[in-house]
Amino acid sequence: MEIVCPHCSQPVQFPNDLSSAGASIRCPYCQEVFQLPGSGTPVPPPWHDPRQTSPTSPRYSQPHTTSPVGWILLGGVVSIAVAVGVWWYSQQSYRSRVNQMTQDIRERAKEEMGRIHQQVASDAIAQYQITKRNGTAMDAFVQAGVVAAAFLQAKDEANYQKWKAIERQEAARAGIP
Ligand SMILES: [Zn+2]
Repeated sequence: MEIVCPHCSQPVQFPNDLSSAGASIRCPYCQEVFQLPGSGTPVPPPWHDPRQTSPTSPRYSQPHTTSPVGWILLGGVVSIAVAVGVWWYSQQSYRSRVNQMTQDIRERAKEEMGRIHQQVASDAIAQYQITKRNGTAMDAFVQAGVVAAAFLQAKDEANYQKWKAIERQEAARAGIP
């Protein structure tokens, strides 16, 4: 610790434990003996001293209402809570986006498959009509079967039944029992 000599105003260093004993000390500058304060904190001299406003002044060591460590801990807890909240929200919105996209893809795939089946069936009908004009009865029978199979793939039962009937007619025409 440090104290200002009341005789010569020089700063005098002394061990901490001496101050609590209220011991006497001899100033190394002016050789005068004076007593250290017993409280353990330096007593400000009655005359003006610029070190009164320095960080070693007693006013500064008074306990704070909220310690800086408390504020740091509170800040850390709040930061973690905010980070967890942001993470959770982003996870939820990511999952819902993935679910929506998966559903959209399934819907589109279903539509696309339906479109493909319809295309296959209409192509088969076109081929049946060409075969009917240019081919044998046997060719027409085979092609009618292809059209019926296409509607079965498309799960179009009405058209499947219709083309099974046409297939049977073509079979009769071709002489197939
Ligand atoms: Zn002195």
